[in-house]
Amino acid sequence: MNLRIARRKFRCNMDMRELKALEIAARVKVVFEGGAWVVPSQTTSAKYRVTLGARPSCSCDDFSLRQQPCKHIIAARLVCARDHNGKAPEITADAVPTRPTYPQNWPLYDQAQQTEKDRFQMLLSDLCRGLANPPPKCGRQWKPMADMVFACAYKVYSTFSLRRFQCDLNEATKQGYLSGPMHAVRTGAYLQCDFLTPVLQALIVRSSLPLKTVESVFAPDSTGFSTSRFVRWYDEKYGVERSGKDWVKAHAICGVKTHIVTAVEIAGRDAGDCPLFKPLVEKTAEHFAVQEVPADKAYLSHDNLEQIAALGGTAFVPFKCNSSAGDGIWGKMYHYFQFRREEFLKRVQHGQGQVPGSRSEQDRHGHEERSALQVPLPQHLRGSPVAR
Ligand SMILES: [Zn+2]
Repeated sequence: MNLRIARRKFRCNMDMRELKALEIAARVKVVFEGGAWVVPSQTTSAKYRVTLGARPSCSCDDFSLRQQPCKHIIAARLVCARDHNGKAPEITADAVPTRPTYPQNWPLYDQAQQTEKDRFQMLLSDLCRGLANPPPKCGRQWKPMADMVFACAYKVYSTFSLRRFQCDLNEATKQGYLSGPMHAVRTGAYLQCDFLTPVLQALIVRSSLPLKTVESVFAPDSTGFSTSRFVRWYDEKYGVERSGKDWVKAHAICGVKTHIVTAVEIAGRDAGDCPLFKPLVEKTAEHFAVQEVPADKAYLSHDNLEQIAALGGTAFVPFKCNSSAGDGIWGKMYHYFQFRREEFLKRVQHGQGQVPGSRSEQDRHGHEERSALQVPLPQHLRGSPVAR
């Protein structure tokens, strides 16, 4: 349409808003998006959201001041009449995500739960068999390492206090899982032994080995364990001082198919996730073929992407809004993320909620649940650990 002719023709019975609306409708793209018309501003790069109907509205200053149809509302009406026969386009509801549900095999589920405690003890004692004993010391000697580790892991699994755990320990001795009677309160002392940490970490690795041929996708995450120590800290995000129970962070990496924990690192409460990616993956790669590592943004770094590439796999870590393109594997993944974002994020989601007790796992299951770990995470922390 020739606008000059149009202006002259309609000058008498059209106001400036209507004229400008005609210009908008003719020159720019007005689209219907998310239940509203998106009308670009004529002077700036801003976009206004317009709703039509009995009480039309627009997000521009003109409308909020006058509460009368502005040029954007008139333009949206024109486009609606011209392109959609006066009806707003329908919103497609097919794309709305629904929460997936999975069928449960109830008889097997019941059986697994009813025999879990027996099986746990059986597997644990099997796992502890053949552990090297600690070096002799003056005075009272240590119990065999297998007994100490069994008692510690079983105590954490039971979630009982040390004294109430005595009955379980007596029963385990009767079943032959311990070499002799043990006082439950001694378990508390074992839990504080530093030399137990590498032993427990090695057992986590050993317990994952039967799944060597099954797992090839691994997801790292971290989870907090509170201790009995009371501390104060400064919350940088909200700029206030807070206090509460101290905690440590367990950083773990899990197989995505079976949720088996393949490596664990323990670090202080302020330790970042990113630097612990490397040791976790290194430990896993000793026994497993690492093909894919989906992880959250906290693990994004050049080194981490390169490490997985060097192992012959691919790390799927979403890029941050301030990330920019680069060379090598970073650049390759950056472009993958930019151009095939949906596919990329699907891969990342694949690894979410794998580590028991982690925030993403709690989000996935809707609540914090008692973990039925194949092996408990190391609980050698000072004070009484809280098992999940
Ligand atoms: Zn407006």
